[in-house]
Amino acid sequence: MITALFCCTSSGTLASAQLNPGHATHVEEDGCGSVPSQEHIELIRQRISDGTWETATQWRYEDRGIDAYVPITAHVVRYDDGSGGLPQSRIDVAIDDLNDHVATTGLVFYQMGDTIYMNDSQYAELDSDEFCSLVAIDSVPQTVNIYFVPDFVNLCGRGSFTTNPCQGVVIDNDCTATSSNHSTFSHEVAHYFNLYHTHTTYHGVECVDGSNCATAGDVHCDTPADPNLSGVVDDFCNYTGTELDECGSGMPYAPPTTNLMSYSRKWCRTHFTQEQLSLFAWTAHNDRSDHLVYAGACCMQNEVCVQVTQELCLSVGGTYLAGQSCDDGVCSEQCDADLTGDDHVGVDDLLAVIAGWQNPYTVDDLLLVISSWGPCE
Ligand SMILES: [Zn+2]
Repeated sequence: MITALFCCTSSGTLASAQLNPGHATHVEEDGCGSVPSQEHIELIRQRISDGTWETATQWRYEDRGIDAYVPITAHVVRYDDGSGGLPQSRIDVAIDDLNDHVATTGLVFYQMGDTIYMNDSQYAELDSDEFCSLVAIDSVPQTVNIYFVPDFVNLCGRGSFTTNPCQGVVIDNDCTATSSNHSTFSHEVAHYFNLYHTHTTYHGVECVDGSNCATAGDVHCDTPADPNLSGVVDDFCNYTGTELDECGSGMPYAPPTTNLMSYSRKWCRTHFTQEQLSLFAWTAHNDRSDHLVYAGACCMQNEVCVQVTQELCLSVGGTYLAGQSCDDGVCSEQCDADLTGDDHVGVDDLLAVIAGWQNPYTVDDLLLVISSWGPCE
């Protein structure tokens, strides 16, 4: 637990110093301060034993087909004089990065409302023990409240697990969508959706041969045993560690260096595994369901259908159909018989049915054309 609490190493130091020459005094800030509460660990232990965890890690968007939007409230903390704030463009990039990382989950993150600014030098240089007081300020319920600070002392970021007493995410500006870091933002938000570090040991040490992967480590079997990659990944994302299996087999670890939930170099971390994505989505639809904005079918003029939120649909003059999917052809239902697409059911459609008789058209299509005769509504 201690290693997860303060995990700083020299990795990323060079890039930080180059990018921020004026802040060379706090170069060791690539740690993550996210720690689940004991209650949370017990909850997950219970879910592992009763099968809920397996259900969560096997959740697949392709089976469920649920699209949902997740609103983010962005808070930019600045010094008393208004300096040091993260530019909006970097927030936008960070959200885009996250959406790329979770693209197969059906979840789409978006910033809701304008960025909330706070000028307070006390919080601009944030100590970890100020996390709870910061995330209580201007927090908007049912959204992911993310606070960007000029300096998160000794840390890059921290995100709350679902049962933590203080709820929110804090990220150091220097770790947010920089040229060498497109991973911390997604990493911290993933904690908010209950993803563990790949090297976590709250549930025991995962053996290199993976034999206990369903109950130990990060409790995902598609993330190999990870001894903690802090300081043992080179500039080219190669693992350089020499540690041997803690389970006693004598085998060396062979962890991937690209996983977003690892402590690999920031620029090496590019993806979540399938089980991590499944847990992310399952948590969103269960533990964080109050955050979700479900998209429905939005019928635009000319019967074009787009799957968006009600708010967005109405703002562009569409007709919103809650709980309906564009896949069901809901926007063109009244004119299914308009085979030629001229907004009129008539002789041309009848001829099309005859020309395509038995392949693909049948007597049902013929009857539909006759019963729908006339202009489309
Ligand atoms: Zn972390």
